[in-house]
Amino acid sequence: MATSKSTQGDWRKAHLFGPIVGLTLGVLALLVFTSALLVYRFDATANAREQHMVQHGFQRQIEELDKVVATQVGWDDAIKMLDHRQDGNWADFNIGNYLYTFNGFTHAFVVDGAEQVFYASFNGERAGLETYAPFAASAASLLPQIRKAELLRPPLRRRPGKNNLLIPPIQANTYARVGGRTYIVTATLVQPDFGVYLPKGPRAPVTIAAIPLDQAFLTTFGQRYLLDDLSLAPPGAALSPTGSLALPDTRGASAGVLKWNPREPSAVLFKQLLLPLLIVLGLLCVLALTMMRRSGAVVADLLASEARSKHLAFHDPLTQLPNRAMLFDRLHKLLGGIGSRGGHVLVACVDLDRFKEINDTLGHHAGDLVIAETAARLRAVCGEANLIARLGGDEFVVLCDKAGCADAEAIGENILKALSRPIQCEYGRLEIGCSVGTAVIDHAGVEPTEALRWADLALYRSKQEGRGRVSMFEPDMDKALQDRRSLEADLRIAMTSDQLRMVYQPQVDLGGNIIAVEALLRWKHPVRGDVPPGVFVPLAEETGLILPLGEFVLRRVFSDTRSWRKTRVAINVSAEQMRSRGFAAQVARLAAEAGIDPSRYEVELTETALLCDEPVTAGNINALKRLGFTFALDDFGTGYSSLSVLQRFSVDKIKIDRSFVNGLSDDGESEALVDAMIRLARALDLRVIAEGVESSTQRERLASCGCTEFQGFLTGRPMELSAVVALSGEDQAPGRALKRA
Ligand code: C2E
Ligand code: MG
Ligand code: MG
Repeated sequence: MATSKSTQGDWRKAHLFGPIVGLTLGVLALLVFTSALLVYRFDATANAREQHMVQHGFQRQIEELDKVVATQVGWDDAIKMLDHRQDGNWADFNIGNYLYTFNGFTHAFVVDGAEQVFYASFNGERAGLETYAPFAASAASLLPQIRKAELLRPPLRRRPGKNNLLIPPIQANTYARVGGRTYIVTATLVQPDFGVYLPKGPRAPVTIAAIPLDQAFLTTFGQRYLLDDLSLAPPGAALSPTGSLALPDTRGASAGVLKWNPREPSAVLFKQLLLPLLIVLGLLCVLALTMMRRSGAVVADLLASEARSKHLAFHDPLTQLPNRAMLFDRLHKLLGGIGSRGGHVLVACVDLDRFKEINDTLGHHAGDLVIAETAARLRAVCGEANLIARLGGDEFVVLCDKAGCADAEAIGENILKALSRPIQCEYGRLEIGCSVGTAVIDHAGVEPTEALRWADLALYRSKQEGRGRVSMFEPDMDKALQDRRSLEADLRIAMTSDQLRMVYQPQVDLGGNIIAVEALLRWKHPVRGDVPPGVFVPLAEETGLILPLGEFVLRRVFSDTRSWRKTRVAINVSAEQMRSRGFAAQVARLAAEAGIDPSRYEVELTETALLCDEPVTAGNINALKRLGFTFALDDFGTGYSSLSVLQRFSVDKIKIDRSFVNGLSDDGESEALVDAMIRLARALDLRVIAEGVESSTQRERLASCGCTEFQGFLTGRPMELSAVVALSGEDQAPGRALKRA
């Protein structure tokens, strides 16, 4: 049970924590993904821009170099000195030395209109023409472009006023790989500026200058464009989309690769964002943990309250025993099991015999103590293995799946023995006792309600047979119950039809004069015939029908006897009527309606009606006494009457039960008892009547003991109203003026 509870708890927690953990991980993943995407995009954009910047910057660098060379060879002197004269010294000073010293061109050459080199310099010094050979190929690739542009150039004409000719420079450049170094090679056509000197032929000389991409060049360029580790890799080096720039010659062959470390601004960004990011992550984790802890506590609370409500739903709060719902559930399973694996199930219904009295007289707290003690004793005697349930009130049920018919009685007797022991508590020694009914179900297909009904029928038999006993279910009990039910239904019908009537039995004095009559109810059933009051009165008491039935009797008797003058009338009233609130008021109302004198009427109560110290009963008795009714204690000697009861309720008369009168003919024991009863009555100043007097011997003996009133077949059987009226000399009432109940 504990394991399944904790498993259930784990399952719930997993269900609750799952989404929290999932959500947290999801948010984390989203954060990481978004950051990665941003970093990638950020870096990619920055690298593309850097790539573009380097490419563009390098182009600008070349253009600046071109401009330097163009300035040196774009004036009239250059035409004069290089085209007209081929002056080496002029070239040394203005080209070789100048370009080297101020711009770092290590090589400079001049070729004539026939593309023949006639000047060469290296590191600013005049050099042999053979130094041109390594650059000849590059120059050869550039010269056609120059010549083509030279051809397309507008004809050069001297302009009046010596104005500048405004001729744009004609240049071409390429990269070249020479002697393990990469050069920018620039070819520039020698042109006039003011046109004082014009080229002597159709083709002017061309200056070819080469500048190496050495460390100094790279450092200057790198610093200018903030490039880290700018370097030059040899041709064939791997190219990547970022951080490298190919340097092809005019034929597309690689002359080298510029390389640098692409900037990664995201790394900087990341470094700066790392701390806030970590703080956010930390907070997120703390939040998730807090939520998990809180929801863990909530789950624990929920489980506990669910367990509590489950327990409440299936247990009786007073005894903690399983309740009706759980009993039915278990019974259903056990009975279902009989079909699949055989065996049998014992159902025992237990009912406390005097619980209601305890509850009514000592209060509900005493009742609760009794119930709790009963539960404890049942647990002790039936063991934890069997299911003991409380159905409510003082009804208990024991289920046992290992007991067969042979054990049923023993189990029932054990329960009886355990509950028969008096309960010692703060209210003193309480004698409770119980009745038990058992049913053993040994075949499949029996419904739980049916099984319980069987055990209940057996319990009913126990109660009927005088309580404090065990009965086992027998199929004929079912029939008895059916009969009882149909009798009950018939009795209801009888009350509204003409099947009920009253008869009157005379009560005589020593001289045989009728001094009173006892009203007795009769039921003539159209099919069953005469149903004795000993059968239908207890049935009416059990079913609550006694209240309307009692009202019928009162109305009829008052109506029958209202014109009587001297003969008293005894009416039987059951304990249930006395216990009913408003009974005295009802009698008073009926008496007033009939116009009778209450002092001529005597209420006959049995001892059980007075046994329990019911405030309602006492109130009814006192109220009726105040109206003038007297009280007789019927069937005296058969119950539990005590002296105190006689005194407390101040009855006026006792009716010695017919069992004692009957015994008078046989033994002396009954005579002694009757004698004692009469003495007691005298001592308490009570009148005494003996009932069931059938013989004159009995009457004489009773008279010799001091009894002065007699009732029985000897002096008159119960008879119709007309007969008793005739005998008593009373007037017959003019008619039943009272309306029916
Ligand atoms: P009970 O009040 O003790 O009534 C006396 C019973 O003894 C009557 O039985 C009567 O017929 C019977 N009896 C009288 N004399 C003799 C005799 O000499 N020998 C024998 N063997 N019996 C005699 P009954 O009429 O069958 O009534 C039985 C019980 O039913 C009554 O006992 C009373 O407790 C109850 N009862 C009858 N009528 C009413 C009623 O109107 N209301 C209530 N609450 N109970 C009634
Ligand atoms: Mg009576
Ligand atoms: Mg009696």
